[in-house]
Amino acid sequence: MLTIKDLHASIEDKAILNGINLEVKPGEVHAIMGPNGSGKSTLASVLAGREDYEVTQGSVEFNGQDLLELSPEDRAREGVFLAFQYPVEIPGVSTTNFLKTALNQVREYRGEEPLDAVSFLTRMKEKMKLVEIDQALLSRSLNEGFSGGEKKRNEIFQMAMLEPKLAILDETDSGLDIDALRIVANGVNKLKTPENATIVVTHYQRLLDYIVPDFVHVLYKGRIVKSGTKELAKELEEKGYDWIKEEIDAQT
Ligand code: ADP
Ligand code: MG
Ligand code: MG
Repeated sequence: MLTIKDLHASIEDKAILNGINLEVKPGEVHAIMGPNGSGKSTLASVLAGREDYEVTQGSVEFNGQDLLELSPEDRAREGVFLAFQYPVEIPGVSTTNFLKTALNQVREYRGEEPLDAVSFLTRMKEKMKLVEIDQALLSRSLNEGFSGGEKKRNEIFQMAMLEPKLAILDETDSGLDIDALRIVANGVNKLKTPENATIVVTHYQRLLDYIVPDFVHVLYKGRIVKSGTKELAKELEEKGYDWIKEEIDAQT
């Protein structure tokens, strides 16, 4: 589904990603971990096509297409969903209207008819139940005045509605309370199918008590320096990141 080869990226001429290689297959959940400043959010942003980042080398293929050639909008329409570490607030646009527009844009892109009002509402109700979100939240301006937990819940709700092929979740490194963790995890677990894949970016092992990843990768200085299974995440929780830093710094 997703093949990242030797990906290099910089911000303002500062190299942040220094050769990322990653292969994600349908049905898989990958966790990207690593110390602060290692490039996790940068990787997520590059995949989503955010503008401040310049790809200087390497390739990203998504379902046979050159992902880097697509605009952020077309990436979304192709089924890539990014939950931002800091979700944007859109005054005057409710979540419901935002989603109606987004969903119908995706359908138009795929040559499908817009979803009729009844089908849209049915889908809303079904997904609201799935992520335990309050209807009142959905008629308010998107993310405006939402608490951290409400933003997370809303994000996962959007993901549920849009049914992406590849979801990339960039978690805040702090401030996620146990409730928010549970919401994110439940959402991801319930939405998992053999056809879609998830990349979970997290600084802490905690989230992975709830979302069980198939693979865990450690990012350090813009490279994946270690890959393993959920056992690696456990090891990181016990030992921290210093041993990995020392190991890598000794080599370079
Ligand atoms: P992580 O998510 O792993 O904590 P980031 O991808 O946010 O790491 O950041 C990686 C590095 O890139 C850090 O050194 C950070 O300071 C730098 N960086 C991130 N965004 C910007 C930016 N907009 N301008 C300059 N430097 C940035
Ligand atoms: Mg950070
Ligand atoms: Mg980050």
